[in-house]
Amino acid sequence: MLPIERQRQMRELIQKKKTWKISELSEHFAVSEMTIYRDIKPLVDEGFITKTFGGISLKQNKEQTVSDQAHCAYCHKPNNSKMVYRLILTNDRIETTCCAHCGLLRHRQLGEEVLQAMCHDFLMDTTISASLTWYVMDTTLHVACCQPQVLTFEQKEHAEKFVKGFDGEIYGFQEAMEAVHQKMQGGQGGCSDHP
Ligand SMILES: [Zn+2]
Ligand SMILES: [Zn+2]
Repeated sequence: MLPIERQRQMRELIQKKKTWKISELSEHFAVSEMTIYRDIKPLVDEGFITKTFGGISLKQNKEQTVSDQAHCAYCHKPNNSKMVYRLILTNDRIETTCCAHCGLLRHRQLGEEVLQAMCHDFLMDTTISASLTWYVMDTTLHVACCQPQVLTFEQKEHAEKFVKGFDGEIYGFQEAMEAVHQKMQGGQGGCSDHP
């Protein structure tokens, strides 16, 4: 069995019964305890479970958080993984929004509660820290998430080239957050599937 498959089954097991001993898991999957420790590491890192003495247990409220990931925390539209903006919050909470538009608005709402935020580079599909991202708005290219749409770039050079081709304005993080907010206040656009 592949580690990834074991991890998937482990998630199910842990949701059914919230605490497990490493020895029980090792017996269940017929692999060494060492292997179990390796398998659970990503689950611990993402905050799904916590390590206890000789075992693991499901993190409280995690079921709630997991189900939230499928829908935007701001507009409740299903999340398209290519554009999501993820907010890492205090108390081990994570929120996912459908795109940088909702991400910036949600980030602004939560303020100090946000420890870190991540988004995706529109061209390269790499993950970027939101505070280092260049945001492009008012472009003529329509990618159909929320209006006014916000595209994200890791490199300013890419954002500049994009704007040359498709128009638009480039913003830094703080400016972008204020700009989306202003535009929403102004009554233009909105979070809709039918912009
Ligand atoms: Zn949204
Ligand atoms: Zn969106």
